Amino acid sequence: MGSPQSIAQNDPLAQNINNYAKKNEYSTKAKSAYSDIPADESNMDENRKPYELVTLHHTGSAERPKEVEDMHRANEGAVTIMRQALSILDLAQAYQNADVGYHYMIDERGIIYEGRSLKYAGAHVGGHNQGNIGVAFLGDYTERELSSVQFKAARQLLGNLRDRFKLPGGFIRTHGEFNGEKHNELRGATRQVNLLREEFK
Ligand SMILES: [Zn+2]
Repeated sequence: MGSPQSIAQNDPLAQNINNYAKKNEYSTKAKSAYSDIPADESNMDENRKPYELVTLHHTGSAERPKEVEDMHRANEGAVTIMRQALSILDLAQAYQNADVGYHYMIDERGIIYEGRSLKYAGAHVGGHNQGNIGVAFLGDYTERELSSVQFKAARQLLGNLRDRFKLPGGFIRTHGEFNGEKHNELRGATRQVNLLREEFK
């Protein structure tokens, strides 16, 4: 577990995000700030389709990036399997995950955490992970809105991703649009999600 630090310095996207962060007074943290488990690259699919979507999620009861990673990587050990069994995530899917399934996570303080490398397809929307960047808000937003700094951080991150990957207009999705059972994700933040859609339409 490293001390808080910026997202990997050698990634041009990360550098960009760090620049945005400086300008906009939010911060970014590299994967190494919360995890020291290497990703199992042999067990992940490379992203082969140009990125064209960003799907927004919330993580529910898991409010810290490490908890989310542990749930997604339940095959790492019995303890995490136990945790997983108690969670709302689909156990079968979790077994296939060799890393956290989202590319980015944003907490209530507006800190953006690096998740899975964008070199690899995420594991966040069953059957629709190619070309689809996964961004999760840490916490449960079924009934409440995002914090204002969290919203601002998301806006900056989405703008950055749009510029970097030349994402087409209307690239924002929510998990519920792919899977009706997930319709509660971000329901409380509907107004803010709509603002983001309006901005990036
Ligand atoms: Zn989701």
